[in-house]
Amino acid sequence: MPDSLLIENGTVLTLGRNSRVLPRHSVLIEKGLVAKVVPKQAIKNFRGKRINATGKVVLPGFINAHTHFYSSFARGLTRTKSAKNFNEVLKNLWWRLDSALTTEDCYYSALIALLDSIRHGTTTLIDHHASPGAVAGSLGAIERAVRETGLQACLCYELSDRDGARIAKEGLAENARFIRQCRQQKDSRVKALFGLHASFTISDATMEKAATLGHELRTGFHIHVAEAQSDQDWALRHHGKRVVERLKKFEILGPRSITAHCIHVNRHEMDLLAETRTAVVHNPQSNMNNAVGVANVIELARRGVLVGLGTDAMTTNMLEELRVALWGQHLRAENPSLGFDEVTSALFANNPRIAGSVFGLRFGEICEGAAGDIAIFDYDPPTPLEGGNVLGHLVFGISQTAADTTIVGGRVLMENRKLALNLDEARVNARARELAKNLWKRM
Ligand SMILES: [Zn+2]
Repeated sequence: MPDSLLIENGTVLTLGRNSRVLPRHSVLIEKGLVAKVVPKQAIKNFRGKRINATGKVVLPGFINAHTHFYSSFARGLTRTKSAKNFNEVLKNLWWRLDSALTTEDCYYSALIALLDSIRHGTTTLIDHHASPGAVAGSLGAIERAVRETGLQACLCYELSDRDGARIAKEGLAENARFIRQCRQQKDSRVKALFGLHASFTISDATMEKAATLGHELRTGFHIHVAEAQSDQDWALRHHGKRVVERLKKFEILGPRSITAHCIHVNRHEMDLLAETRTAVVHNPQSNMNNAVGVANVIELARRGVLVGLGTDAMTTNMLEELRVALWGQHLRAENPSLGFDEVTSALFANNPRIAGSVFGLRFGEICEGAAGDIAIFDYDPPTPLEGGNVLGHLVFGISQTAADTTIVGGRVLMENRKLALNLDEARVNARARELAKNLWKRM
C-alpha cells in the first residue's frame, strides 16, 4: 500500500449522505483511507504520488454487488442449444460451461473480469463462483487474480446438489476453508461469504449442512432467489413453502446475507426480507436477457428491503447497469417518473452498505475516513453540474464516458486509461483466448 496519494484539483463529487460538488478540490489518501478533502491550495509540501485531476470529476469507486467472474469465457461462445426458458439457459449454457472449467480457467476468467472492472472504475466486487469439475482450490485461484489486480472482492463457492453428493461435499468444504482463511488474513481486500446456488438445486439435507456450517463460522450467505418462477414452483411442490420462507426456516436470511434477483417474491416474502435485514441484489440486464421478468424494486424499497445493484456478469460497468435498472422500472410501472430514487440509491447508497458490512470499510463517499477507492472520469460537463443534479449527470453523461483513473485503497490501478499493474494485459488476453478455445471444445 502506498503511504499517501494526492488527487489534485478535480471536481470532487462526494456522493454519500451529504452529497456535494466541490470544484478545484484535492483528495488526500493516507494508509488506504481518505484523509482530507480540501481546496487545492490547502495542501503544501506534499511528497507522495500526485494525480492531476484538472478538468476531471473525482468519484467514489463503484461496487458490483453480484457477479460471476467464471462467465468471462462465455463471450463469443456460439455452440449452445437455444433455450426456451431459464432452466434451459442453465442446462444448455451455464452448467455445461462451469462444469468444464479448470482451476487455471477460474484464475484467467477472474483476471479478465477484474481488468474490465478497473477500466470502468468498479473497485469492489461480490462474486459467486461455480466450477464443479475443479472445486477445491478454485477460490484460492480467484483470490490470486484479485490480489494481482489490486481490487477488492468477496468470494464464495456456489453449493449445489446438481452434480451429486461428492461435489456438494466439496462445495461445503471449499466455502468453509476459504472463510476460515479470510478470517486469518489481516488485510481487508479479500473477503468471503457462504455460497449457495439456489433453493431449487439444494436438498433439505444439504441446506441443513450449509446452514449449520455457516452459523458455526458466523458468516452470511450469498444465494440466487426466485430468479424465475420455476424456483418458486419447485419450492412449493417439494418443500411446501415459498423460497424465502424456506430460507428463513434454515436461518439463511439475515443482515450479512445477500439474495440475488428476488423477481418472483410476493409481499409476504418481501416483508420477511425486510424483517431479517437481508440484502436483495437486483441484476436487470441479466434478467432481461434471460426473459425472467423485472424485480419490483420500488415495492421492495417501499417495504424497507435493502436493495443493491449487481450485474450478474453481464457487464462490469455499473453506470450502464444503473441506466438499464432505471428503464426497467419505468417499463414495469409503465410510468416514466417512477424508480429513479430507488435505483440510484441501490448503486450509490445501498451497495456501499452491503459491501461495508462485508469489508468493514466506509464506501460510497469521499470524506475523511472513507475507503480510498476512487474513480476519475474525464468529463467536462456541457450543462451546470451542481449539488442537486449529480445523479442526472451520472446517469445521462458520465455513464457515456470511460473511466480515466481507478484507485483502490490509495493504490493507482489505472492512470490516464493505462493500467498501472505488473500484468501484461496482451499476454493475459492471449492465454485466456487459448483457454477459452479449449474450454469450448470440452463443453
Ligand atoms: Zn447470478
